[in-house]
Amino acid sequence: MYSILKIQNILKPIQIQVVDLQAEIHYLLYDSRKISHEKNALFFALINRNDGHKYIHEAYQKGVRNFVLKIGSDYISDLPEANILWVSDTLYALQELAKQKRKEFEPPVIGITGSNGKTIVKEWLFQLMSPEYKIYRSPKSYNSQLGVALSLWGLTDYHNLAIIEAGVSKAGEMERLQEMIAPTYGVLTNIGIAHQEGFKSKIAKAEEKLQLFKNAETLIYPSKYLDGVICPYRPRKFAWGDESGNQLEVYSIKKQSEGKTIVTLSYSGRAFAVEVPFVDDGAIENAITCIAVMLRFGYDTVAIAERIQQIVPVEMRLELKNGKNNTSIIDDSYSNDLVSLQIALDFLNQQHQHAQKVLILSDIPGLNLADEKYLSKLRSLVSERNLHQLILVGPELSRYAVQIAPSATCYPSTEALQQEIKKLDFRDATILLKGGREFHFEKISKLLVAKSHDTLLEINLNAVEHNLNAYKNLLPSNVKLMAMVKAFSYGSGSFEVANLLQFNKVDYLTVAFADEGVELRNGGITLPIVVMSPDENAFDVILQNRLEPEIYSFRILRAFLSFLNVKKITDFPIHIKIDTGMHRLGFVPEELGALLDLLKDQTLVRVQSSFSHLASAGNSIDNAFTEQQIKTFDQFTIKLQEVLGYPILRHIAATSGIEWWPSAYFDMVRLGIGMYGVGMGRPDLNLQEVGQLKTNITQIKDIPKEETVGYNRHGVLHRDSRIATIKIGYADGYDRRFGNGVGQMLINGQLVSTIGDICMDMCMLDVTDIDASEEDEVIVFPDIKSAAIAIGTIPYELLVNVSQRVKRVYFYE
Ligand SMILES: *Cc1c(COP(=O)(O)O)cnc(C)c1O
Repeated sequence: MYSILKIQNILKPIQIQVVDLQAEIHYLLYDSRKISHEKNALFFALINRNDGHKYIHEAYQKGVRNFVLKIGSDYISDLPEANILWVSDTLYALQELAKQKRKEFEPPVIGITGSNGKTIVKEWLFQLMSPEYKIYRSPKSYNSQLGVALSLWGLTDYHNLAIIEAGVSKAGEMERLQEMIAPTYGVLTNIGIAHQEGFKSKIAKAEEKLQLFKNAETLIYPSKYLDGVICPYRPRKFAWGDESGNQLEVYSIKKQSEGKTIVTLSYSGRAFAVEVPFVDDGAIENAITCIAVMLRFGYDTVAIAERIQQIVPVEMRLELKNGKNNTSIIDDSYSNDLVSLQIALDFLNQQHQHAQKVLILSDIPGLNLADEKYLSKLRSLVSERNLHQLILVGPELSRYAVQIAPSATCYPSTEALQQEIKKLDFRDATILLKGGREFHFEKISKLLVAKSHDTLLEINLNAVEHNLNAYKNLLPSNVKLMAMVKAFSYGSGSFEVANLLQFNKVDYLTVAFADEGVELRNGGITLPIVVMSPDENAFDVILQNRLEPEIYSFRILRAFLSFLNVKKITDFPIHIKIDTGMHRLGFVPEELGALLDLLKDQTLVRVQSSFSHLASAGNSIDNAFTEQQIKTFDQFTIKLQEVLGYPILRHIAATSGIEWWPSAYFDMVRLGIGMYGVGMGRPDLNLQEVGQLKTNITQIKDIPKEETVGYNRHGVLHRDSRIATIKIGYADGYDRRFGNGVGQMLINGQLVSTIGDICMDMCMLDVTDIDASEEDEVIVFPDIKSAAIAIGTIPYELLVNVSQRVKRVYFYE
């Protein structure tokens, strides 16, 4: 906690307005959608993709009274009761505050960087060293210029060791991170190909990363990554690797069956063996890095071996699963501290699909509730979220339950909750499960989550957000965005994706049929929703659910007008579709006159927008045609607007138009497939994959040469083979055309082909040449574009064909 005066001293603002000298700051905010603890919060208007200054009114309205703004932004008259510090760079100011926090923290700080494995090493060190140390660690993977600053702000005098991760994506970023973190011990995990783009070479990247360790006392690293790299800094080197010059020498790495690896090492002339409970190379490398850190901290080899054997996989993401009795479960059973609790509660707040919100919380390891400071932090965290039910698990929370929330229900242990869970009878609720690892909330999750088919479609909500922002960046700020969520968001789900889009403030959502719109309304979506195929039978539903119909013909227009007339409704929003060359739905230009006659001088409907669709915007061969479509559209809508006498939103560009036709942006664009990770060829967007269809190997068999596999005996074996059966078939949306070697899937990083015909619920893969066991994970479409080409279709079809019986699992990091 800093007083506003202290903050003023640290930031040295160029200009100030201080109205409340007593203000004390506990929390830093930068996102107006995630405001909490507004009384003791300081809002930084950051300028990145979005200018944070646009949101200060919203923050002010929500009760925030302390701001750091960029000099030159004049808001005094709008924020009369606020303390305002004007600085030249708001992110820099936030970092300065973090730097001060770090300076005041006397215990050692471990700084971790590397291309991969940072978060895993951080979480494992936390698991391994927690018995002896009160460790503060950066939440999730908060390792950016902003993330590190926010992480450091969480340091307190309760902790006696901090582990902070640092990530850079381009040259020049590490210097600032070094100044903030100032690690006592440096840990380099590895240097891989991730983020190569921003760097000239691997060596340049290594040199940039090493800057973090400029003033560190010791640098712990795998020696193979620093071959040929000059480290100009002073830290003592603690290297590990298989050559004898290393402080920690690796004699052998032997992978066993049952998913274990025996690693034999030598340190200070003494050999010892450690069992690592993983077999993949990345995990083994990360484990050895952890061993090196523990040795540096003076742990003996027996204790190290004992603890390494028990490390568990790091689950870094929040999963949203379908629960029994119409519930949604946010499963965060692997870590518990105040910061990650806040992140999870923010995610819970984004969910509107059920009326009720429930939090099941375990004791928070290391949080001393006898200290009023922490008790009140926890109390305000859980009290500000409109929870309908709060369930506390563990002796510590039970002891303080009355002070945390008098209405809470308490259970002394996870087992006690398990026994009572049926009686709690959760229904129509979103339930956040937030438990420390030792509470094994995965047992509770098992009881709450609805069971189904093993095949899963994993939806990465961060990727949807990333892709949305990539397209937003192409648009001038006055162009609105309509997000297409038809066909269950191209197969990725309905309200789950829509909630995220609403949170990200898109302007409109569009569905194909009224039913889909109803589902979104029932899921708590309040954004305007356009229905593209409004059936006459659906008019009532449209009205009741405040959906907005697309009007594409005289027949539907007349029917809707007479419906509204009977219902005595006026000014109902509609969207006029124009056919400029696609020749699907819409009024053709020749019908403009008759359309205007119907629309003018009536008050039943109000034209909210008018739009058309480009037929071939992604094909440069059709450029002249596209230009003609845009021109026809422009003329039609200008005339329409003129006669109506009020402004309407005009829009024609979908994904390919957004990528290639800035002249087609008009007032709004309609983003569809690009948001789901399939672009139209623009390389600079760096789209991320959204959906990953996964299943498992059910059975593996050795089958001799000349036998056949599957129906019709089409899968003829030309050699002795190992054949894996997996539980996905054409009823799940895996097209029959993928049979007999056309489809390729990924198992343990290796490509394999289908063999034989695809069955209804299953198919077979030839795994003769790869390492595979029963229950191994199978990625069904390693590359959705080439899969589509292989059967002569387009990615849209593969995405929307994934059957609704395939369970969707959503995650958000
Ligand atoms: C589906 C659809 C879109 C979105 O198209 P994408 O190519 O997926 O971006 C836009 N407008 C209309 C009318 C659509 O039907």
